[in-house]
Amino acid sequence: MKDFGDRKPRILVAEDVMVVSLKIETALEKQGFDVDTAEDGEQCLEKVKSFQPDLIILDLMMPKIHGIDALRTLKSNPETARIGVIVCTSQSFTTEQRTAEELGAFDFIAKPVQIEELLSKVERFFSPSDIDEQQISTQQRAGELVEEFHPTLDTTRNRFRLWGTRGSIPISGAQYARHGGNTSCMAVHAGDELFIFDAGSGLRNFGLELMKDGPRKIHLLITHTHWDHIQGFPFFTPAYVPGFDITIYGAQGFGKSLKSIFQGQLDMDYFPVQMTDMNANLEFQTLTDTPVEIGGYTIEWKYAHHPGATLAYKIDIDGKKICWMPDDEFLKGYLGSPDGISIDSEIVVDYLPLIEFLSDVDILITEAQYTNEEYPAKIGWGHTSVSNACVLMKIANIKNWIVTHHDPMHDDTFLEDKLNLTRQLMERIGHSIEVSHGYDGLIKYL
Ligand SMILES: [Zn+2]
Ligand SMILES: [Zn+2]
Repeated sequence: MKDFGDRKPRILVAEDVMVVSLKIETALEKQGFDVDTAEDGEQCLEKVKSFQPDLIILDLMMPKIHGIDALRTLKSNPETARIGVIVCTSQSFTTEQRTAEELGAFDFIAKPVQIEELLSKVERFFSPSDIDEQQISTQQRAGELVEEFHPTLDTTRNRFRLWGTRGSIPISGAQYARHGGNTSCMAVHAGDELFIFDAGSGLRNFGLELMKDGPRKIHLLITHTHWDHIQGFPFFTPAYVPGFDITIYGAQGFGKSLKSIFQGQLDMDYFPVQMTDMNANLEFQTLTDTPVEIGGYTIEWKYAHHPGATLAYKIDIDGKKICWMPDDEFLKGYLGSPDGISIDSEIVVDYLPLIEFLSDVDILITEAQYTNEEYPAKIGWGHTSVSNACVLMKIANIKNWIVTHHDPMHDDTFLEDKLNLTRQLMERIGHSIEVSHGYDGLIKYL
C-alpha cells in the first residue's frame, strides 16, 4: 500500500442508489479506507474539493451531472487530474466506456457491482507497483499530451499509373467497368520528370489531368505505332497548348518515320485538325542506342516479338526497374504444356536476349492476351497465350507481374477467371509470384 502518512487513503463513492452506495461504503471502510459518498454528479465535484479523495468510485448514470461530464471536469483540472477513477458502468454502454477510458479512467467495473471484484480493483489502484503506471497514464491523459495520429498519403512519391490497359480497340460497357476500356497508356512520375509509355486512348484522360497543372516537359515513349498505342494522341490536349514541351520517342520503323506516322494519323481524311494546329513544342526522336539517358533516368529498350518494330521499355527509377512490354508473343506457335520448359529448352533459344533483358526487372507490366483455347486461331498476331506468358515469368525469374493489354472480348468476369487460372498455372510450374491484373487507374507508389 502506498504510504499516506498518518491518514487513511480516501475514497469517494459517487452513486445515486443509496442501497448500493451504502454497501460499497461499508465494504471499503472494513478494509480501512476513509470513505465519503456523493449522490449525484454535482455533489461529487463539491466533495472532491472538501474531501480531497485519492480515488473515486464513479457511477456514470447519475442525476444533475452525468458521470462522463464529472470525469471530464476532474481530468481537465490539474488539481484533480491525478485522482484515480474507477467507473461503474453497464457493460452494454461501450461508447461511454471508451470515452471514460480516453478521459483517463483507471478501471471499470460492471454493474451490478460485485464487492469482491471492486475490492481487488481498489487494491490494485493503491498497490505501489501500479502507482507509477497509473500516474503516468493519468498525467498523459489529463494534459492530453498524446496527439492523435492521422496518416496521410504522400502523392508526390515516384509512381506509375495505368491509364489504359486494353489491347486492340477501346471498349465500353458495364461488363468492362472494373478493368476499364481504354487502350495502352502508362504514366511514370520520377522526381520532376514525367514519362508516358504509349499513347492509346487512355492518354486522353491523362491529358485532361495534366491541364490542371499547366505546361511542362513530357517524354512520350511509343512501343510501336499500331492504333491501340497511338490513337489517343490526337485527343491529347497538352499537344495543342503552347508551353508544353513534348518529345516523342520510338524505334526506327520499316520505312516511314515516327513523325510521318503521327502526321498520317492527323491527315485531313481521318481527322479535322492537323499536326500544324498543335501549338505545343513537339519533337520526334528515333531511338538508336540502348540504354539512353532521358531526363536524368536510364531507359533501356529491346525489340519484343510483335509484328513491326515493337519495343519493350525498362526504366530504372532510383534502383527500381519497371518494364512496360504491352505486346509480345512469347514462344510463338507453341501450343503444348508449360511443364518442364526451361532456359535450356530448344524452343526458348530465340527468346534468350529478351529473357536476359527482363532478368533484373522488379515489376513487369506485360500481356497474356489469349487463352490457350483462343491462341491457335491467332498465332502470329503478336500476342501470347496465358500458359506461354507464365513460362516467360518463370524463365526470366520475374517477381511481380501486372497483366495488361486485356483482350476487348474479355469482360470483367472472364478476366477474373483468367487471372485465377494464371495464378494456378504459376503454381503448377513452380514459380508462385505476385500476379495481378492491370486496370485503368491503377497507381503504384515505388
Ligand atoms: Zn497493342
Ligand atoms: Zn501491336
